Amino acid sequence: MIVAEDMYRLGSQRSVIRDLFEYGKKLAAEIGAENVYDFSLGNPTVPAPDCVNETIRSLTQTLDGITLHGYTSAQGDEEARQAVADYLNQTHGTHVKADDLYMAMGAAAALSLCFRALTVDSSDEFIAIAPFFPEYRVFVEAAGAKLAVVPADTKNFQIDFDELEKRISKHTKGIVINSPNNPSGAVYSEDTIKRLADLLCRKQEEFHKDIFILADEPYREIVYDGAKVPFVTKYYKNTLVCYSFSKSLSLPGERIGYVLVPKEVTDSREVYAAIAGAGRSLGYVCAPSLFQKVLVSCIGQTGDIKEYKKNRNLLYEGLTKIGYECFKPQGAFYLFVKSPSADSEAFCELAKEEHLLLVPADGFGCPGYVRISYCVDYDMIKRALPAFGRLYQRYV
Ligand code: PLP
Repeated sequence: MIVAEDMYRLGSQRSVIRDLFEYGKKLAAEIGAENVYDFSLGNPTVPAPDCVNETIRSLTQTLDGITLHGYTSAQGDEEARQAVADYLNQTHGTHVKADDLYMAMGAAAALSLCFRALTVDSSDEFIAIAPFFPEYRVFVEAAGAKLAVVPADTKNFQIDFDELEKRISKHTKGIVINSPNNPSGAVYSEDTIKRLADLLCRKQEEFHKDIFILADEPYREIVYDGAKVPFVTKYYKNTLVCYSFSKSLSLPGERIGYVLVPKEVTDSREVYAAIAGAGRSLGYVCAPSLFQKVLVSCIGQTGDIKEYKKNRNLLYEGLTKIGYECFKPQGAFYLFVKSPSADSEAFCELAKEEHLLLVPADGFGCPGYVRISYCVDYDMIKRALPAFGRLYQRYV
């Protein structure tokens, strides 16, 4: 083989979600798009707030092309980083400085930068809590480390601390957490974050080493019923935050986010420099310049989250009434449903016969469950409910 085998494997294996998406397109051509119920993707359906297009219009009218489209500093424009720092400080009462932030191409790049910066050798491990975003494994392994997985707490979708404690060892470099969670929709409570912080402080002492939390937070603002998302840096010093505007501002294709390295992190300037070095080595420098400028005016705004809530209520109530066992999501835009048979992959195959495209959660480290993405058209959910009903009937 003339190419790197690992890279070839990654590039040629299609993800379950991509396969479903392609299948849905073919099915729509055969039976009409209105008869396909595609719940596979996590692509925001609420438009970006008006501020985004207004700012783009105004920037294109007022700035010359060189200023508008030119390179920024590798770590991001000072003004954009200052805007993020000001916003975080106002919102969370923190003392973040522009120099604690590295602008990145979405959360995917932010996470990759952190894994790469923190991995010292191949014995290093990161721990993910199931259910977890499957790309963590790809990013961690690409950084040269290993991923260890804590099985899901399927009762509350918080953290099973006994299982987590068993997996923390002298090799543990960090724990990646994601709240609000894709795919469960759970929000980690303050109690969960405090317990996690206590456990990690204890383990840092026991193993005489730093253990980091990587807080992956693309869904931070997408919460319902007043759910609060604790700002993890306030509970645990060695926390790096990986944030993305993909979901909050509905800008997934524009690839904009950041890494926050708070001053409280051990050797924070060294960590920051290693993140900048990872950016340099991966070519993840100078995040999209136009969208760094957009942030300066639009940070703190969101798309219309009430739309997702409406969808959540319709789907959750509809499926629960049919008899499905669903976890009520407090955030993000996914409903996590227990498959009526233990084999969730077979259940999702059967769902295709009803033209329902659902994602088995095996790839999220939680077999027996299914992810239903409800960032979709409200009317599609309404039309799909009878199909969910027929599908359920096949199991009773
Ligand atoms: N982390 C989680 C939990 C996600 O769900 C996603 C995207 O869906 C990402 C990271 C990657 O986000 P981005 O599109 O900003 O790279």
